[in-house]
Amino acid sequence: MQIFNSTADWLIFRKSIPAEKPIGFVPTMGALHKGHLSLMKKSVDENDLTVMSIFVNPTQFNNQNDLENYPRNFESDSNLIRAIGVDAVFFPTKDEIYPNHYRYRIIENEKSKIMEGAYRPGHFDGVLTVVMKLLNIVNPTRAYFGEKDYQQLMLIRDMVASFFMDIEIIACPTIREKDGLALSSRNILLTKEERAIAPNFYKTLNSHNPTDSIKKELNEYGFGVDYIEDYFGRRFGAVTLGNVRLIDNVKL
Ligand code: AMP
Repeated sequence: MQIFNSTADWLIFRKSIPAEKPIGFVPTMGALHKGHLSLMKKSVDENDLTVMSIFVNPTQFNNQNDLENYPRNFESDSNLIRAIGVDAVFFPTKDEIYPNHYRYRIIENEKSKIMEGAYRPGHFDGVLTVVMKLLNIVNPTRAYFGEKDYQQLMLIRDMVASFFMDIEIIACPTIREKDGLALSSRNILLTKEERAIAPNFYKTLNSHNPTDSIKKELNEYGFGVDYIEDYFGRRFGAVTLGNVRLIDNVKL
């Protein structure tokens, strides 16, 4: 497994890959868990080469504390990826990705303004911008994204189609703990008490009750509720437990 910190080194390697070899790409922010690994396994199965990136993208954080507290663990991440059969890791610095300090950015004006976009202003501008940059650098055949972040998945799919990018976007199902909690890098920030309450988020979201009564139920469990909303045949939710914000969605 090769690790690339510099875009220039990566591009030399990229040019050496024969054009007919399908390349799968899995962008992540690290602090890897079984959800990330499921995307990588799918990519390893479906492509000749799998590339993943680890980059905690500052432009998608609308809250400085959240960015600073975001878990980072490159050592244990690289051990996990090695075992899966990932061929290359792109692990760039902020300056590599933002040489012009975010002067150029991708802005979507409709689906990025609801739910996560409404509660985290500028979040999807940062997501779409970094994903566009990473897709251009890696130039994969297929890129893998989790349904856990369904709004993000939809927007990326839309962006790739809108800019005529010749990349297949593959959706991967949400991987959950046995108790239903969606795996997330942020879960390790939950206290023991919060972790015990957390599975009620998925359980409640998955009930067929109206959104208002779901909000009430979640409040009773001790969650702060940002939103519970139905869109695109799915029910989306964002809640907080102490300082930790969790999102999830289920098919209606
Ligand atoms: P992140 O590191 O949080 O940016 O996530 C990187 C990719 O992994 C994104 O496409 C996420 O949607 C996906 N992902 C995160 N958590 C899960 C999960 N529990 N199940 C499936 N995919 C996930």
